[in-house]
Amino acid sequence: MYFTAQGKRILFILMGIFFGYLPITASVYTGVGIFVDSGGIIILSVSNTTRSGKTSQAATLMPATSAKLQKVQWRVNGVRLNQNLQKLGTIGANASGGVSRVAFSEADWAGRTYVMNLMQAAGLEIQIDQAGNIIGRRKGQMSGLAPLMLGSHIDTVPEGGRYDGSVGVLAAIEVAQILHEYEYTTRHPLEIVVFVNEEGGKTGSRVMAGKIMEKEFDLVTKSGKTIRDGIRFIGGHPDRLEESRRQVGRIAAFLELHVEQGAVLDSKGISIGAVEGIVGIKRWNVTIEGIPNHAGTTPMDQRHDALLAAAKLIETVNRVVTEMPGSQVGTVGQIQAFPGAPNVIPGKVSLSLEIRDLDMDKIDRLYDKIAIAAQNIIQEFGVTIQYDHFYTSRSALTDSHFRKIISETADLLGLSAKHMPSGAGHDAQSIALVAPIGMIFIPSVDGISHSPKEFSHPQDITNGANVLLQTTLKLDAVLN
Ligand SMILES: [Zn+2]
Repeated sequence: MYFTAQGKRILFILMGIFFGYLPITASVYTGVGIFVDSGGIIILSVSNTTRSGKTSQAATLMPATSAKLQKVQWRVNGVRLNQNLQKLGTIGANASGGVSRVAFSEADWAGRTYVMNLMQAAGLEIQIDQAGNIIGRRKGQMSGLAPLMLGSHIDTVPEGGRYDGSVGVLAAIEVAQILHEYEYTTRHPLEIVVFVNEEGGKTGSRVMAGKIMEKEFDLVTKSGKTIRDGIRFIGGHPDRLEESRRQVGRIAAFLELHVEQGAVLDSKGISIGAVEGIVGIKRWNVTIEGIPNHAGTTPMDQRHDALLAAAKLIETVNRVVTEMPGSQVGTVGQIQAFPGAPNVIPGKVSLSLEIRDLDMDKIDRLYDKIAIAAQNIIQEFGVTIQYDHFYTSRSALTDSHFRKIISETADLLGLSAKHMPSGAGHDAQSIALVAPIGMIFIPSVDGISHSPKEFSHPQDITNGANVLLQTTLKLDAVLN
């Protein structure tokens, strides 16, 4: 192969860009083709990413060329994003291959420092609010507009994984980094937030929403510190939390990208979940009383066996919840028989009943159906059943307009998408009390989460971050 002198120069420039010899502002794409036009200008063509596609080679884009791309063509740097995620995963890494970065621990501190460095590189102005939430700010063009907020958490459960929360935080920073590289100022100010202690009760997001009780601050967390001492440890002021509260109307929109933590997307091979909302939860303690008696001398037709009645009730819960169309779930997760001896017919059983759905009324309807169906059990076994409702967490719906934009954005990027509920709680649930929210899910392989085995494919993470970027740009254009 022969090159002219000019051809050799172009080749050298191309190689230099690929191998990072040239000190230029980097904007990296996935699925890139490179051409050199007659004037020696480097042009990159950006191809769509598909779920099955491999993460492509990073290439570097010159700012002068990047300015030619329409905003709708802007993409995150998937290689950088996934590298950052793996680096964050080394902080608090444990022997089992997972991450133990519980809130307020030394590892949490180190993780926060790492994330703040990324924020700084993305040109964000960093503040730590009174709750210890990290907020990276970027100014907007229009004065008087409330900020667009993107974020999640970086704390983990003990023996957790690398993806829960961290994907959302690092993707949000990547969005800010891309805007920084394009030197583009959104109409709204932008805030990238790392919420404090999500796994230990969504402390940071609930402080922001003004929905937290004073007595919670004395709870001892997995770090060994109380929440109050933990907040001090990371630079917050637990006595001035009111200052961190956002009133309704002070956040234009909140977006959270998160791993699904279930197997719906992975099992169906779908790239993006447009979350309809975070489900509501109701829990009851159920007490079944029969008659304890001698297991040897009481004939089978003269028994009032509370445990046998409980077995029928558990089956009834499953049947009633399954019979109704929809994605509601019902669970009996705890059971105890009294007196609890091999030679005594159980006289009393206490068990838990939990029902979750987006529609709180539907939860009540399911409960009513279970209680009605249980009348037969009461008659059949000669027992009593008492339901003691002790816990409610109200569902938080995402904004229907945001949901539509997320679906359309996925479509535009050539990604399959599905509307779905979130069965797990998230920081977005707290923020929903004071602002419209949107949530984007990406697949969790085999639906495993809160485990060292938690995994999401790099390409899915990149796809999710691109949906986050484009949804943010779209909301910035349409919201006031
Ligand atoms: Zn999470």
